[in-house]
Amino acid sequence: MKIERRREQFNALVSEAATCRLCAAMCGRTAVLSDHNGRVGAQAMFIGEAPGRQGGDRTRVPFSGDQSGRNFARYLASVGLAREQIFITNAALCNPRTETGANRKPSRVEVSNCSGFLRRQLDIIDPRVVVTLGAVALAALCAVEYHQLTLGQDAGQIRKWRGLLLVPLYHPSPQVLASHRREAAQLEDYKAVARALRLIEKRERRAFERVV
Ligand code: SF4
Repeated sequence: MKIERRREQFNALVSEAATCRLCAAMCGRTAVLSDHNGRVGAQAMFIGEAPGRQGGDRTRVPFSGDQSGRNFARYLASVGLAREQIFITNAALCNPRTETGANRKPSRVEVSNCSGFLRRQLDIIDPRVVVTLGAVALAALCAVEYHQLTLGQDAGQIRKWRGLLLVPLYHPSPQVLASHRREAAQLEDYKAVARALRLIEKRERRAFERVV
């Protein structure tokens, strides 16, 4: 599909998400989905859990404005990637909060409600490499096409999924860094993203050479 058509579809999706009220507990908050998420046609699409209260929900740019965003930017830079090259979204597009206003994980129902938006973003952005940030994002992909991958077994590895390369990573939040995956291990994991992009580049160069 032509890039202009995909941009039109993306704009329509943004408008639809902006007025979505499927999740009752998200009432009063708006989906974080716009041109600030990245490029239609980006080779790599990153998927997080949900926008954070001090992060994407406040800045309207996923993974920015809080410590998770700063960690993410550092890890991306460590493998030579810039935000301008990628597309970033979340399994749940709105910010889930507790009654006291703290961040919470999106519920299974909320992730399931949002799975149609995730599927359509994958179709429109049409990335070659998908990178999930955390267990919620990895599980959310099952609603698009079933897989049996887990962070315990597959973090930092390149796997095939739906004809794409999938790299499951841990979430870059300070809590995950302190309890599940330290910074040194996360930096090592990000090298798999760079390897996956190199594999795609090689494959596309070979295909190009076959037709010219
Ligand atoms: S999280 Fe997704 S499905 Fe739920 S209200 Fe927001 S946009 Fe709609």
